[in-house]
Amino acid sequence: MAKEPAAGEVKNLSDLVNHLELERQANAENADGQGAEGGADGGVATGDEQEDATTPGEASLLTKKFRTIIRKGLVESKQDLEIQRKDPSSPLYSVKSFDALRLKSELLRGVYAMGFNAPSKIQETAVPTLLANPPPNLIAQSQSGTGKTAAFVLAMLSRVDTSLRHPQVLCLSPTYELAIQTGEVAAKMAQFCPDIRLQFAVRGEEIKRGDKLTSHIIIGTPGKILDWGEKFRAFDPKKIRVFVLDEADVMIATQGHQDQCIRIHRHLTKDCQMMFFSATYEKEVMDFAEYIVEDPTIIRLKREQESLDNITQYYVHCRNQDDKYQAIQNIYGVITVGQAIIFCHTRKTAAWLAGKMSKDGHSVAVLSGDLTVEQRLAVLDRFRNGMEKVLITTNVLSRGIDVEQVTIVVNFDMPMDQTGGADCETYLHRIGRTGRFGKNGIAINLIDSEKSLNICRTIEGHFRKTIHLLNAENVDEIEKIGA
Ligand code: ADP
Repeated sequence: MAKEPAAGEVKNLSDLVNHLELERQANAENADGQGAEGGADGGVATGDEQEDATTPGEASLLTKKFRTIIRKGLVESKQDLEIQRKDPSSPLYSVKSFDALRLKSELLRGVYAMGFNAPSKIQETAVPTLLANPPPNLIAQSQSGTGKTAAFVLAMLSRVDTSLRHPQVLCLSPTYELAIQTGEVAAKMAQFCPDIRLQFAVRGEEIKRGDKLTSHIIIGTPGKILDWGEKFRAFDPKKIRVFVLDEADVMIATQGHQDQCIRIHRHLTKDCQMMFFSATYEKEVMDFAEYIVEDPTIIRLKREQESLDNITQYYVHCRNQDDKYQAIQNIYGVITVGQAIIFCHTRKTAAWLAGKMSKDGHSVAVLSGDLTVEQRLAVLDRFRNGMEKVLITTNVLSRGIDVEQVTIVVNFDMPMDQTGGADCETYLHRIGRTGRFGKNGIAINLIDSEKSLNICRTIEGHFRKTIHLLNAENVDEIEKIGA
């Protein structure tokens, strides 16, 4: 796994992006260009008793890295693209090959060198739209992993005029880590374009008052970019030709970012091309889009729905936590379990369970909020490679990470919302599968209180799918579920 630079260790970035010249200004004495970056390490619950929560920025990063590192690659959606054109004469068309995009040959080489053979669904429509003239504004929405980053990075790089020595592209990401990820993609894609210069505007990158940036592309977090534009006047917003807002849904979930984006946007000219990307399409996201993107073309790729269709669900009555553990032991003693994921409510329970299971000879991994993103990836990687058979986790397991070979999912604790009621959506994410990974699976809910039984019943009613009673002390019954 490629080592990521730790926060502040920006020096290493130049190694990562060795084909692009990273402009680095001398360290400023004053560090007043911090900005509210809401890094991925902010906002995670600490303490064993607390329920683990993942910030939207972390979840997004984890999904992205997971896909890249374990070569899971693109999400191939069966859903059709929905395209809304405000302007009926807009030159919207789609291409089936990168060659047909008429990209600069250096960029095309970069794309192929990255191992991309053909554009993804979102790319085949978004890229030609983004490259059209006059440059149209675009709102694109599709789930994480569908190739949005690669799409706008190609457009950004295509729009750069290397004969000019000033920033022409601003790309805003919600966190330090996501900005770095995007920069890495840009560096790889531009590996045969030695003249394009990229500058990160993230924490740790400092400039002096009076410095004028000469890079073509600035990728960073909103606070820092706003500071460099407004306070330091290090670039001229009127000369920005392309404004990219990546992960807009994560952006609005981070305090202060939305306002900063809007402020930056106010300094731009009317003919600056706006590219707005989001994994979700809620009203809040679209309200935000309206501020930023005038007269947009909208491209949407709906998410494939997870369903409980291929899952047989059970619940087991237990008296207490030890009893729950015994139920797991009994099931393991009778049926051959491929790999299992067990969800606990708190880190403390997860650690307790992991300790007990390891003692009893199971190979277990624990994924909880006290791990760094890197450590979580390492855990997931080992699990995916089958090095551990059981993954015990709190709620930090990012959505959208499909581990196909998992046969059993156990809810050691039922998913609850903040009011203690049933969290049906989380249940679906834990247990459900998409059509792609529609192998049969088993879900087991361990019930040790009236409250958890109520949650179980609510979930059953919500999805209108029976959750069968299982007597975990009866070998014959257990055998049947494994059949
Ligand atoms: P998103 O921004 O929608 O989350 P990314 O652009 O990060 O998606 O792409 C997800 C993964 O798929 C990345 O690992 C990326 O390298 C890979 N990828 C993107 N486009 C293609 C393509 N056309 N062919 C093959 N792999 C691709």
